[in-house]
Formats: sequence, C-alpha cells, structure tokens
Amino acid sequence: MKNVHVIDHPVIQTKLTELRDFATDHRKFRALLNEIASLMVYEVTRDWPTRQRPIQTPLERMTGEVLANQVTLVPILRAGLGMADGVLRMLPDARLGHLGVYRDEKTLEPVSYYQKLPPDIATSEVLLIDPMLATGGSGAAAVTVLKKAGVSHMKFICLVAAPEGIQNLHAQHPEVPIYCAAIDRQLNEKGYILPGLGDAGDRLFGT
Ligand code: URA
Repeated sequence: MKNVHVIDHPVIQTKLTELRDFATDHRKFRALLNEIASLMVYEVTRDWPTRQRPIQTPLERMTGEVLANQVTLVPILRAGLGMADGVLRMLPDARLGHLGVYRDEKTLEPVSYYQKLPPDIATSEVLLIDPMLATGGSGAAAVTVLKKAGVSHMKFICLVAAPEGIQNLHAQHPEVPIYCAAIDRQLNEKGYILPGLGDAGDRLFGT
C-alpha cells in the first residue's frame, strides 16, 4: 500500500502479540504499548532533517547533528495517550498537543470536541498518535484539524490498522504517511478491528 509503513521488527511483533493476548492485564498492556511506541520512533523519524551543531567534546571541537525542527506529539483522546509517554521517552523535547474526537451517533460523522495545540505547531514536525486505525473517521478528522492549524509535516502513528481505515484516511489525506506495527484483516460490524486487540482505551485504562 502506498504511503503505509508496516514496522515488522521482531521485537515489536513479539510485544504486539503479548499486547493482543486477552490475558494481558491493563498494567502490562500500558507498559507494552509504551515500549512499542518507543521502538516505533526510530523508524518513524528516520527521514527527519537534521542541522549541524558545533560542540566541544572533552578532547576537541566538532560539528554534530541534531534534529532540525521542533517536534509536537498529538495523541487522539483517549487511547492515543497510551503511546505518548513511550514516544516522549525518545523525543523528550517534544511538545504535546491534545485532540478529542467522538463519533456523532446520529450522523456517524466524527466531531472534534477538544483541541489544545501549541500556537506555533505549523512549523513543527507533528506525530499524530492513535493505537487503532479502525474506520479512519477520527484519524481523518484529526488530520483535518491539524491542517487547519497550518501543519504541513505530519505522520500518523498507530499500532494496528484496518484496511478500511487506511483507505478512508488516505482517500481524504493521501499525503499523510501511516506507520503501524500490523495491518489486520478487517473491521467487524461494530467497527472493531479483527483480530485486533479489543478496545484499546478500555484495556489501557482498565475501564
Ligand atoms: N478502537 C479500538 O480501541 N479497537 C478497535 O478494534 C477499533 C477501534
């Protein structure tokens, strides 16, 4: 699939299998989700630009490289919060925005109900985070909000994606790269991913 990156590293796959397991409790689920998010950062950020920074080592002067741009993480509430600490562990200077999106029960359309973003988000690299890309409705709505805020460099990071969600997100925003650890088979009639891992928010927060 175009502009979709499946990070099939064996360590990530091992942790993902543990995470999917019904017997995994919320404490372990939370830890695994953050560990996978940390590991995914290496691949997701691989093409980010760097700038030169002169430093003094204990022995001599040299020019090193550092990330060129500010970084902003934007978890989609609430399950996206479950990956934020893991990403922050690798990118501790990143800012954190928040986006809340729910699905209107009558229209079935996603509605953005909460947004708190850094004022200068337009100039930063943005990582939009949600563990499950299911119908793609909330993901696409979140991308629309970020575009309205002026963001031009963003990537969508999830753990498990459904083919339907990828198609829907890319039908509206084909230029946004999607990074996931797995593409599962399909959605069920309630919009859950199969085989999936259940409700990520409930498993994460123990609700
Ligand atoms: N959201 C979840 O948490 N799980 C799914 O399977 C689909 C959407």
